[in-house]
Amino acid sequence: MKTHALRLVLQTLALVLGASGPSEAQSSKAVPADTIVLHGRVYTENAKQPRAQAVAIRGAKIVAVGSDAEIEKMRAVGTKVIDAAGRLVLPGLVDSHIHFMDGSQSLGRVNLEGAKDASDIQRRLREYASNHSGDSWILGRGWNYAMFGPEALPHKKYLDEIFPNRPVFLEGYDGHTYWANSKALALAGITRETPDPPNGAIVRDPKTGEATGALKESAQELVAKIVPKPSRAEKLAALRAGIKWANEHGITRVHSAGGDFEELDLYDELRRHGDLTLRFYIAYFLNPPRLRPQDLEAIENGRKKYHDDWIDAGAVKFMVDGVVESHTAAMLEPYTDDPSIKGKLFWEPSNYKAAVTELDKRGLQLFTHAIGEYGVQSALDAYENAENLNHTRDRRPRIEHIETIAPADISRFGKLGVIASMQPLHSYPNSNALNVWARNVGPERASRAWSWKSISDAGGRLTFGSDWPVVTLNPWEGVQTAVTRQTADGTPEAGFVPGQRLTVAQTIDGYTLGAAFAGHREKWEGSLEPEKLADLIIVSQNVFETVPQKLAETRVLTTIVGGQVVYQADAK
Ligand SMILES: [Zn+2]
Repeated sequence: MKTHALRLVLQTLALVLGASGPSEAQSSKAVPADTIVLHGRVYTENAKQPRAQAVAIRGAKIVAVGSDAEIEKMRAVGTKVIDAAGRLVLPGLVDSHIHFMDGSQSLGRVNLEGAKDASDIQRRLREYASNHSGDSWILGRGWNYAMFGPEALPHKKYLDEIFPNRPVFLEGYDGHTYWANSKALALAGITRETPDPPNGAIVRDPKTGEATGALKESAQELVAKIVPKPSRAEKLAALRAGIKWANEHGITRVHSAGGDFEELDLYDELRRHGDLTLRFYIAYFLNPPRLRPQDLEAIENGRKKYHDDWIDAGAVKFMVDGVVESHTAAMLEPYTDDPSIKGKLFWEPSNYKAAVTELDKRGLQLFTHAIGEYGVQSALDAYENAENLNHTRDRRPRIEHIETIAPADISRFGKLGVIASMQPLHSYPNSNALNVWARNVGPERASRAWSWKSISDAGGRLTFGSDWPVVTLNPWEGVQTAVTRQTADGTPEAGFVPGQRLTVAQTIDGYTLGAAFAGHREKWEGSLEPEKLADLIIVSQNVFETVPQKLAETRVLTTIVGGQVVYQADAK
C-alpha cells in the first residue's frame, strides 16, 4: 500500500514537471528495461506506429517501442541487450489450429509425409521398423490419398507384405482416415461381420466384404483403443519436444482444436517445472450426438481452473463433417466423381444448434470444423441463430478449415462476425489437392477452394494455423502457400485459384494480430506495443522484400516469449 502511494506521488510529480512526453521511451527513462532489442527492422502490427528500430521489455511485457536512440536510454547495468543486426523483428507467431499432443507424439513415430507411392512408404516403414525393433506396434502418420493412385485409399496388402505378424496402424495426413494391417485388424477383432460405427466406415472389398485396412473417421477408434497407451513420462517428454519445435519456428502461442483438453494437467505440470515456453488456448472437443451434463461440467471446470496468459481453456470445438478426399465432408450437391454421395453432417442440425446456443450463452468461444459447403453453411446458420437468441455480441465464433463454400456464404463471415480459421498449407497444390480433392468437388466448386481472400475482402477476419500434425507446424511454409498458392517448385505456374492469393502483410496478420483477435487476446498480444506481452521473434530475412517463392526459407533466429529468450539459433 505504502509503495503504491509513493509511486502515485512520483507519477503526479512527473506529470507536473512535464516529464511525460508523447514517447513512451521518455516517460519510462527512469526505470531501466530488463531487455532491449536494438538495430532491428521492427514490424509492429500496430497501425499507430507501424515500423520501429527497437523494443524495450520489462518483466513479461513490452514497455517501449521506438528508435535505437530512444530505447538506448532505457539501458542500465543489468539490461540484457539483443542486437537484431538489421534483421526483421515480428510479433510472435500464433498457430490457431493445432493438435499439440498428437503432433508432439508424432515426432517420435514414422513419418510418411512426402512419400511418392506405396513402395516408397514400404521402404520408409522397413527402415523405421529396423530402428525400432523393440516396439510392439508400428505407429505413424502422414500418408496422403494420392500416394495410392486413382483408388485414393490405402490397402492392408502393402503392409501385410512386410509386416505379417507385427501390428501396424498409420494415420492419414489429415487425421480422418487410418490404415491398419491384417494383424492390427485381427487384434481389434474387426471381421466381415463388424458393423460400421456411427459416423465411421470400415472400408470393405466389394467382392468379398473383407475389411481392406482403410478406416474412415470414427471407425479408426476400433483399432486406436487397443494401441498401447504412452506413459505420463513419455507424454511429458513428447510435449517438451513439441514445445521446443514450436519455439524454434517462431511460434509463441497455439490454439488447440482437440486432444489437449484431456491433458491440461500435463501442461500445468510443465509450467510448474518452468518448462512452459509456449502459450496454450485449448478447446474442449465436443462429440456428437449432443451436449451432455458431463460435457458441461468438464468444460466449466476446465475454464474455471485455466484462464490465464499461459493456459486458457475457454473454448469448445465441434466437428460437423469430415474431409473432401474420403467424401465425408458434407456438400450441398453430390460429389462430382461419385454422384451417389453428398457426405453428411456428423451432428443432427437441431442438436448442434441447441449445443451452440447453450455454450454461446455461457460465454464460451466456439470452434466448428466444417470443410464441405453444407457443413460451413450449417455452422453459419447455428451461429446466427445463437446470436439472435442470446443477443450476444463480439463472441467471435469460428469456423475451422472452410475448404469449400457456397458463394452466398462468403459475405456472412463479415456480417455475423464469424472468424475464418484457415490453414494455408492445406491448399498446397500437390497431387493430393489437384488430383483427388479437386476431382472430388469438381471444377465449379474448386474455383472457390480455400477462399480466404474473398472472405477477407467481404469483411471477415482471418486467422491462420497448421492443424499440426496434419501438416508441418513450420508456419513459413504456410506463409509462402498463402502468398503464392503454388508448390515449392512453383506449380501451377499461375497458382491454384490465384485470385485467392494474399499479400505478405495480410498473411502475417493472420498469424499475429488476426490470430490474437481470433482468441480474444488482441489487447495483450498480436502486435508490438507498450503494455502488450513481450512475445516477439527475429527472423533471417525481410519477408516483405523476399521473392515469394523463397518465403518458406525464412529461419527464426530468436524467439522471446513473455520477455524470456526461449530459442536462440546457433551463431553462424
Ligand atoms: Zn484439426
